[in-house]
Amino acid sequence: MELVHTIAEVRRAVADARTAGKNIGLVPTMGALHAGHASLVDAARKRCGFVVVSVFVNPTQFGPNEDLAKYPRTLEDDCYLCLQHQADLVFAPSADEMYPPGGNLTEVTIKKLGDGLCGASRPGHFTGVCTVVSKLFNIAQPDQAFFGAKDFQQATIIRQMAADLDFPLEIVICPIVREAEGLAMSSRNRNLSPEHRRQAVALSASLSAARREIESGKTQAGAVQAAIRQYIATHAPAGQIDYVEVVDARSLTPVETIAGEVLIALAVKFGGTRLIDNMVVDSAAGPS
Ligand code: AMP
Repeated sequence: MELVHTIAEVRRAVADARTAGKNIGLVPTMGALHAGHASLVDAARKRCGFVVVSVFVNPTQFGPNEDLAKYPRTLEDDCYLCLQHQADLVFAPSADEMYPPGGNLTEVTIKKLGDGLCGASRPGHFTGVCTVVSKLFNIAQPDQAFFGAKDFQQATIIRQMAADLDFPLEIVICPIVREAEGLAMSSRNRNLSPEHRRQAVALSASLSAARREIESGKTQAGAVQAAIRQYIATHAPAGQIDYVEVVDARSLTPVETIAGEVLIALAVKFGGTRLIDNMVVDSAAGPS
């Protein structure tokens, strides 16, 4: 496995892999890698002859009052995880490599899909994501790119963007990897205090409870949201709810009456650490 820091080095490595007849898989990340990221690398390894993992804490997707400065940076450990999961190339560029001073006048913005959920509380976030992912697609030119359902809105947006802009690649969306108690794995979990970490388990537990209610026939989205809020208030009193939403799983628009596949999504802050989680629920599935 090779670690490189420049776009030119990625282009060279990818060109060599193509010459050797390999197809290219890309796993974009912000580092501080964990088993959730590893599952994406494994999925890429299974399908692709040459696996590129990018590690870049993209400044343009953070708002002015967000946690860019304290986002964990652990490149050495990240390389070790990538090596263990048999990635071929780690691309860890500097901010200047990705956004040369004086450049960076172009942005990629998506309509509608980025308006709600995280987009509503993080203005400009998805423009930062779409722009950096477009750049990574053009740099690595993958045949397949791998994203996690943990960031369901992001994955939906990237899939739409890739289709709209005719990127010649397939977007593969992989399931959420959770801790044994249900907490969705996240690089930000390591910024939680032990007490907040304990309370944060309530997020996935509240979603599981909501799923059971929907599968048992509850159809009023408002009642489902209220039950989730109540659950979090009781079991995670330190959590400040940013949003709890029930939306159509494709259009991401809010629903009032639950029918078919819906996404239940939430964001909750513990101190300065904002966590997100979601579940897709098929109301037609019946009790599980
Ligand atoms: P991040 O480093 O947080 O930007 O995440 C990089 C990629 O890993 C994104 O596609 C995420 O959705 C995905 N990811 C992060 N956490 C998880 C998880 N717990 N399970 C599955 N995928 C994840």
